[in-house]
Amino acid sequence: MNEFDLIRTYFASQGLARDDVVVSLGDDAAVIAVPPDMQQVVTTDVLVAGTHFFEDTDPHSLGFKALAVSFSDLAAMAATPAWFTLNLTLPEIEHGWLERFRDGLFQLAAEYQAQLVGGDTVRGPLAIGVQAGGVIPKGKALLRSGACPHDCIYVTGNIGDAGLALLHKRGVLAAPERDAPVLLARLDYPMPRIREGMALRDVASSCIDISDGLLADLGHILQASGVGARVHVDRIPLSQAFRRNFDRAGGWETAIASGDDYELCFTVPVGKAAIVQQLSAAWACGVTHIGDIEDSLGLRLIDEQGRAREPKLQGYDHFAG
Ligand code: ADP
Ligand code: MG
Repeated sequence: MNEFDLIRTYFASQGLARDDVVVSLGDDAAVIAVPPDMQQVVTTDVLVAGTHFFEDTDPHSLGFKALAVSFSDLAAMAATPAWFTLNLTLPEIEHGWLERFRDGLFQLAAEYQAQLVGGDTVRGPLAIGVQAGGVIPKGKALLRSGACPHDCIYVTGNIGDAGLALLHKRGVLAAPERDAPVLLARLDYPMPRIREGMALRDVASSCIDISDGLLADLGHILQASGVGARVHVDRIPLSQAFRRNFDRAGGWETAIASGDDYELCFTVPVGKAAIVQQLSAAWACGVTHIGDIEDSLGLRLIDEQGRAREPKLQGYDHFAG
């Protein structure tokens, strides 16, 4: 099988033909239409074997996650996914691997009717790059820079499960049998909060997805917005699995410093806080008010006793140290 057989066999068969995809894979480039009142939102992410995932990770979850992390960026901008491209660097052609990878990728794509419109396939150390495009009504994208003093800070879902799963996978902390599958699912199959992001279009003042840890990613909002914040650590939403392993896992310190959660962190003017409560009734993932934006710069962590706490850990940085 050569490069072109591989593309035809595994990636030309999605069975989706969106109206806005004028030319899909098979030509030198794709052609995408954008309705006149809409804007295109584009993002890209790379997953490298050994850095972002273990070499022996189930390819089904890799396919799913490679798309999920890009969709999570679209969610943070409040965009609706439309199309994506796939850059695959493979050490060799392994049919079983490609089949499962493709199935995981197309499973998430199908959920949002997002069409694979092209890519590149080369030989080399295993790495997966996905670029995703979405649409949004003109001017409605949620940015990191819109947070204002007194806005409420929220997060969707639970924080820290993926980080705990990673500790478990690395053998640093053995999660009990009943917790391990739940935690690993959160690491391997992150659910991008697309519908939640879209619902926040006219509600949130700023938004980011949590890929490097709540501490680091909320920090990006604060920096881009030129504000500070107060976060109550006892309000940080933790799953039952995380709570059962709380002390061994390193408590809320671990939860706020570990990445890969792909939840949304967003701010909302106080006057719109009631809308968040209404919206969240329809959100299976839930939403939690963890703190508030303040004038004075910096992030202040407040514990149960109302004392200020210094975080011991930082978010992930590929070039740190
Ligand atoms: P070119 O050499 O013109 O860049 P390629 O030979 O790399 O084109 O790719 C041929 C076609 O197959 C292109 O339309 C490209 O978008 C598509 N393609 C290549 N690899 C992938 C992939 N992994 N997934 C989807 N489409 C792909
Ligand atoms: Mg090429």
